[in-house]
Amino acid sequence: MLKLCGKTLATFKPIIGEIVIEKVPFYKRHDKIFVTENINIDCLGYLAIISTVKPVKNIFMPYIIGNINKPKLAIFNKGDIVKLQDNGEIFFLWEIRSNQNALLITESCNCNCLMCPQPIQKHDQSLYNNASRVLDLLKNKEIDTFCIIGGEPTLLENNFINILSRCHDEHSSAQIDILTNGKKFADTTFTSKITNIHSCKDIFCVSLHSDIDSIHDKIVGCKDSYINTITGIYNLAKKKF
Ligand code: SF4
Repeated sequence: MLKLCGKTLATFKPIIGEIVIEKVPFYKRHDKIFVTENINIDCLGYLAIISTVKPVKNIFMPYIIGNINKPKLAIFNKGDIVKLQDNGEIFFLWEIRSNQNALLITESCNCNCLMCPQPIQKHDQSLYNNASRVLDLLKNKEIDTFCIIGGEPTLLENNFINILSRCHDEHSSAQIDILTNGKKFADTTFTSKITNIHSCKDIFCVSLHSDIDSIHDKIVGCKDSYINTITGIYNLAKKKF
């Protein structure tokens, strides 16, 4: 995830908003983060400001993350969705010009793979909330692809189903890829719930590392994973995924 760091004088809870580079009408500013080189009256009404200048304390101004190097302002594009934290960090949750955006909904997992690129963490609900907020801000925009990832995204059960249905309902022509270890689909009740919201454009990318159970289980660091993943793949196939 692309990240930048600036400076802020304010204390605030994480803010998620859509980047604008040029002024927008006042009534449209409440969920926008304005990227600008100048802090002045034109900054009023936005959710927050990202700027090259030093942050100032002014009760009428939105939260400001300042001291960003001028060349780095070019990284921002209108329509990007970013999360700002009061330690000055700016995380890109959605890059409008990228076709490799992902909705990370949990870092929790029911495997412990040798090659896992991220340490497994206890589920943090703020990741799900961030993904949900990104979908709010993408409503009515044309999006071609979504990728739902974790950790293991299916562990969130109804919250996973909620994110998947929102992608379908709000972006009916988008292709949706789900990166999963497939174990959860060994549960036929859960798989049936997915069937109700399934679109033929969905792709379940299930990782299977060997056709020998002991080797697969050794790689994913978890006993009985092979049998659950294989059962999951068959259950998905039975439902014509
Ligand atoms: S299934 Fe994916 S997220 Fe889970 S441990 Fe393996 S590589 Fe990591």
